[in-house]
Amino acid sequence: MLTGRRLVVDSSRTLRSLRFSSTSATSDKYKIVVVGAGSGGLSVANQIYDRFAAAGKSLNPGDIAIIDSAEYHYYQPGWTLVGSGLRSKSTTRQPLESLIPKHLTHISENVKTFFPESSSITTTSGRSVSYDALVVATGLQTNWSGIQGLPQALVDSSSGVSSIYSYDTCDKVWNDIESLRNGNAIFTQPAGVVKCAGAPQKIMWMALDRFKRTSRADKIKVNFYTGMPTMFSVKKYSDVLDRLRQERGVGGYFQHNLISIDSPNHKATFKKADGTTVDVDYTTLHVTPPMGPLDFLKGSPIVDSAGWVSVDPATLQHTKPEYSNIFALGDCSSAPTSKTATAVIAQAPVLTENLFSVMDTGKVSTAKYDGYTSCPLLTGYGELLLAEFKYGLEPKETFPWMDQSKPNRFFYHLKKDLFPVAYWNLMVKGKWYGNKTIFRPSFSS
Ligand SMILES: Cc1cc2nc3c(=O)[nH]c(=O)nc-3n(C[C@H](O)[C@H](O)[C@H](O)COP(=O)(O)OP(=O)(O)OC[C@H]3O[C@@H](n4cnc5c(N)ncnc54)[C@H](O)[C@@H]3O)c2cc1C
Repeated sequence: MLTGRRLVVDSSRTLRSLRFSSTSATSDKYKIVVVGAGSGGLSVANQIYDRFAAAGKSLNPGDIAIIDSAEYHYYQPGWTLVGSGLRSKSTTRQPLESLIPKHLTHISENVKTFFPESSSITTTSGRSVSYDALVVATGLQTNWSGIQGLPQALVDSSSGVSSIYSYDTCDKVWNDIESLRNGNAIFTQPAGVVKCAGAPQKIMWMALDRFKRTSRADKIKVNFYTGMPTMFSVKKYSDVLDRLRQERGVGGYFQHNLISIDSPNHKATFKKADGTTVDVDYTTLHVTPPMGPLDFLKGSPIVDSAGWVSVDPATLQHTKPEYSNIFALGDCSSAPTSKTATAVIAQAPVLTENLFSVMDTGKVSTAKYDGYTSCPLLTGYGELLLAEFKYGLEPKETFPWMDQSKPNRFFYHLKKDLFPVAYWNLMVKGKWYGNKTIFRPSFSS
């Protein structure tokens, strides 16, 4: 029953989008429900639709529902380019509705609760939606309030405090870099999981290069304060980055975790590994906030003790046999790899194949995810170090004949020019397979 709800019905008379104004409970059933329409959700929903079609078992329009109340879909890797003055921020988002093809049903709400025993979810309006198979792709939570004084400092245009980690603040980063004339420029990275663990230092390298190119570098001291013990998790790349840091005169403060900001006095307080704190004066401060699992997932029956959706790291199917119709990918999943869009690119076809196989035969296929992820580490204008690795922090490089730990211009143009185009034109449509370009990986049977 849909009384009291605004429906948008497309020309083929399939239900395209539901926006609800009432809170009375009602129930819908879909073959496949995808929760979250970010990088992972959009890619995989399209790939699943295409996979059934390729097997001659086409789904009907509306058999797949994608649930997400967001008004916009964001190309988050683009925020580093905005902070570096290479893009305007409007190029990093598009209305979500415009990216969902007609054959997918868009439910413009958020999920509140998972009921895996009855293969159903409820939305924030109290609506119940059931499924044959579920994909969770809700991303992670950025904990802005995890650093005392950060939210206030970010909204103050004269604070000198900024972050590439949101659409709202990424352009402030470039303004702060451009307006700095002298003093102490601090770039931070928290201890623990963050999206694209290289991004906190990418923006630092870009700022440093910009200071040099505009003859300000001798008056500005650049320092990297990180909660982590090294520059990067993979030793091969970390060693190169630490060498660069020393050659370029950047201060390195490891296991220093930013805990509070006194914006009026331009002081940042860091907690060290031994539990003591240190106050540091800054002129400008770029903050990478702490991140973690989404609040609404914590305590849900589908997550592990930390709050990540508990999946087999290779098949991306839920670890509990009784929830074998549930899969997850991207930042919300427990797969022990770094949280990146490139990990999503490698995960989506594996998840698609296994979900298709479970629905078709009752069992997962041979498709396995090996933990592949990559981090295009900008080290300056016109240069980039392309870190690529898999589970176990073992390098897995696309260009083995090149030294990928050596920053070069070709990689820089991949990140700056090719990846954004591939993202908007192919990835959100489920047609981009990373280093396999538009060719879907094949999985032996
Ligand atoms: C500054 C920055 C730089 C980055 N640089 C890179 C890079 O260079 N390379 C790279 O590969 N990756 C990079 N990333 C990481 C990359 O953007 C993410 O890893 C990727 O977007 C994860 O995709 P996802 O689908 O898991 O989550 P997201 O893309 O974040 O999407 C999650 C979706 O779930 C929705 N959602 C949340 N809660 C609910 C709910 N309760 N119900 C329904 N929907 C919900 C949200 O509205 C959102 O649309 C960067 C990220 C940032 C922030």
